[in-house]
Amino acid sequence: MTTFIAVLYIISFALFIYGLMGLTGPRTAVRGNWIAAVGMGIAVIATLLTPGMSNWLLIALGVAIGVVVGVPSARKVKMTAMPQMVALFNGVGGGAVALIAWVEFRTTEGYAHEPAYVAIASLFAAIVGSVSFWGSNIAFGKLQELISGRPITLGKLQQPVNALVLIAAIVFAVVIATGGDAELLMIGLLVAAGVLGVVVVLPIGGADMPVVISLLNALTGLSAAAMGLALDNTALIVAGMIVGASGSILTNLMAKAMNRSIPAIVAGGFGGGTAVASGGSGEVRPVRSTSASDTAIQMAYANKVVVVPGYGMAVAQAQHVVREMAKLLEAKGITVAYAIHPVAGRMPGHMNVLLAEADVPYEQLKEMDEINSEFAQTDVALVIGANDVTNPAAETDPGSPIYGMPILKVNHSRSVIVLKRSMSSGFAGIDNELFYDAKTSMLFGDAKSSVGEIVEELKAL
Ligand code: NDP
Repeated sequence: MTTFIAVLYIISFALFIYGLMGLTGPRTAVRGNWIAAVGMGIAVIATLLTPGMSNWLLIALGVAIGVVVGVPSARKVKMTAMPQMVALFNGVGGGAVALIAWVEFRTTEGYAHEPAYVAIASLFAAIVGSVSFWGSNIAFGKLQELISGRPITLGKLQQPVNALVLIAAIVFAVVIATGGDAELLMIGLLVAAGVLGVVVVLPIGGADMPVVISLLNALTGLSAAAMGLALDNTALIVAGMIVGASGSILTNLMAKAMNRSIPAIVAGGFGGGTAVASGGSGEVRPVRSTSASDTAIQMAYANKVVVVPGYGMAVAQAQHVVREMAKLLEAKGITVAYAIHPVAGRMPGHMNVLLAEADVPYEQLKEMDEINSEFAQTDVALVIGANDVTNPAAETDPGSPIYGMPILKVNHSRSVIVLKRSMSSGFAGIDNELFYDAKTSMLFGDAKSSVGEIVEELKAL
């Protein structure tokens, strides 16, 4: 049986890696996801075959609850709410690891009789799992707007409080590792780590949330791998390390995309600042508004149009009508490209997924670095529900909370048309100088309706 289980585990690892390869491109992503899910199914079956497994009723109940809660919520979730869901599911993983560490502590009556590596790995898993669970729940609350997306800080007390709860968690761990077997010690450790997760994530502004979720994801993976080490379970070690490694790579890539260092992100205070529109001082600054018909004419006489999608396109679900518009423009001999900012929307790859859904040819999707040099030759940049990712303040205003974040340089185009409903700010809660630029026109309205009207006008031209 042990050999059979080992073989099943090896098959599942191969499927994880093969599935991960599929996630490198939108065309193969769904298949990759399925392959990895089958791998996980095999790993679960192999684990259940482990000799000595009992409590079948409880296991069946746990699986049933997981299926009943997980499947419908994953099927129903809107694409725009995906980061919240990732935060929640990730948190559940971290919480499960922390609970396993607690259960092991109870089963072995402390770690005094266990090898040192088991004690260290379990205590590490308990701390990191608890940080990840509570941190992810706060991230969920912020993205779901149950808690304010703005940084919530303790002011000058922030760093001392963070240090204090971290030290408390470590002290509990040291006492347990050196023979302490009172259950209160383990509860104290989990509580201190949980408070650490809360106080670390609360001061982080909404704009940094994607990086934080990715970081917490990496932490959950590491805690699972540590628990696998303690339990001598290879599947948990491998799956945990894959999550830990891929989460760390994604965190680094996203931090780079926002030109932020990870310590600076964890130090907090970025984004989600004051919700400002029209300058924030109450003053109303003039903007030029345009109509669907003028927009259609302007684009019909262009050589090159670059569509800049953002979160608003996802909210309006305008991707299909945008594709229809692009086809009409292409039929008139106009070159159309899509400018993709790495943090446009509300999750990594959000725009790629939406545009792939609408069958936009992958070659037309241009990454930020590539398209930025093309804006100078662009006649019309059509900004559809994007805001923060186009904000020139990121380059020009050192006082701006998004200063330093790389942006799509749409203001280098010959003309810019921004489709949004009002002058409201985007996720970072700040005003956008682009809207007041002399070459910018605003087409107010829901993105799907506005693009629909543009399509009708283009057809009539
Ligand atoms: P923003 O959030 O900056 O702006 C979106 C704009 O869309 C708003 O200003 C809003 O204006 C407009 N909008 C909303 N609904 C509609 C609609 N139905 N029709 C037309 N317009 C609409 O989006 P960006 O994509 O530019 O930037 C993403 C932001 O989100 C960044 O700050 C990023 O850091 C953050 N973030 C990114 C994540 C990621 O992984 N990609 C995850 C979490 C946050 P109005 O209300 O006037 O219509």
